[in-house]
Amino acid sequence: MLKGKNVIISGASRGIGKAIALELAASGANISFNYLKSAEAAASLEKEISDLGVKAKGFQVDIKDFTAVKEWVERSMEFFGGLDIVVNNAGITKDKALAMMDITDWKDVLDTNLGGTFNLSKACIITLFKQKSGSIINVTSVSGVVGLPRQTNYSASKAGIIGFTKALAREVAPYNIRVNAVAPGFIETDMVGQLRPDFLKKMLERLPLGRLGKAEEVAKCVKFLADDFSGYITGQTIIIDGGLSIQA
Ligand code: NAP
Repeated sequence: MLKGKNVIISGASRGIGKAIALELAASGANISFNYLKSAEAAASLEKEISDLGVKAKGFQVDIKDFTAVKEWVERSMEFFGGLDIVVNNAGITKDKALAMMDITDWKDVLDTNLGGTFNLSKACIITLFKQKSGSIINVTSVSGVVGLPRQTNYSASKAGIIGFTKALAREVAPYNIRVNAVAPGFIETDMVGQLRPDFLKKMLERLPLGRLGKAEEVAKCVKFLADDFSGYITGQTIIIDGGLSIQA
């Protein structure tokens, strides 16, 4: 059902964003994505998606820079001629105990994760208003639901995204635009590789499903929220965490 739909997705050169881009492209959607540094990975993803028979374009744009994001959206519109689905995925961690965290660790994470979600949503919203349809999917985290130690910056940014999702969903529902979020737990990507091994081992031992999640498992849920199968769902956060948030 995504055939011919136009998707814009942040942070797709690696990890979960890349899996989402490939999943939506495999269903027939055209993909515009951005990245910060990974130019080589982005070029190879562009080719991988184009080989699926849809349009693909990667843009080196810092999600923290609203002017650059606005220009990316405009160039994507010129390239595709429309916009149907927005995925706010780009995110970073800078984990530290609060006592050791400096202001740049706090600001970088808030500006990228929460600020980036604002920037891309804001740059797209008028277009979605005009056509009176659209689906926005925000990638938050179970860290924003339960709160994790050494992640006050990250948990705050991701909890902020959940609030943003609910508020925007109420605001734009009259225009037939849906806004939802997915909250992954520990997913096998470079980001999880940055966690302290002893912390990760302890988490995995207590995790009901006892394994890391796969980026593709998150991508399938995003596809569900992107297409009309989820047409009566808005303002929700779907947790994809192997049971992390329900453990006693
Ligand atoms: P990842 O493997 O580290 O990939 C992050 C992606 O975001 C890359 O494409 C990166 O581009 C891009 N990015 C980072 N900062 C950016 C910026 N300022 N401007 C533009 N692009 C930027 O991370 P991931 O694990 O796939 O995470 C993706 C999302 O899922 C994030 O929002 C993360 O918080 C969330 N999440 C992840 C997990 C997990 O366990 N992995 C769990 C819960 C939530 P470059 O390649 O150019 O650096």
